[in-house]
Amino acid sequence: MPDEVVIKAVTQWYSEKPMKMLLPLFFADGTRLDQLEIDCAQCARVLRAQHQRGMVCMVMADTYRLKGLAACDQCRSFTRFSFLCSGADGVVTVEWKKGESVVRTQVRATWLMRLATWLSRRT
Ligand SMILES: [Zn+2]
Repeated sequence: MPDEVVIKAVTQWYSEKPMKMLLPLFFADGTRLDQLEIDCAQCARVLRAQHQRGMVCMVMADTYRLKGLAACDQCRSFTRFSFLCSGADGVVTVEWKKGESVVRTQVRATWLMRLATWLSRRT
């Protein structure tokens, strides 16, 4: 990576919020997204919330855009990410662009979590 790209990424890194402060995301019916795992673009290591910083904005009801950077200590590089997340019925759909196409994956909340949500909604 050229120096100015690295400097820009480092500056952005310090100006963004830690992902731990942004998650979990809650959707209208109680479905939640607890964490996102991002693969390092350089070495494919899985980067969890403590290695992610960014921002969340609501695009439309129950759909959020999550964007930011994931930092890898192993190869000392940053991976940029930008996702669209929507959630309902305990399933969160995550979408992102890969070249010209859109990749879509679904993350299922655990049954225990759904039960807890259901119970808390009744009280
Ligand atoms: Zn890496």
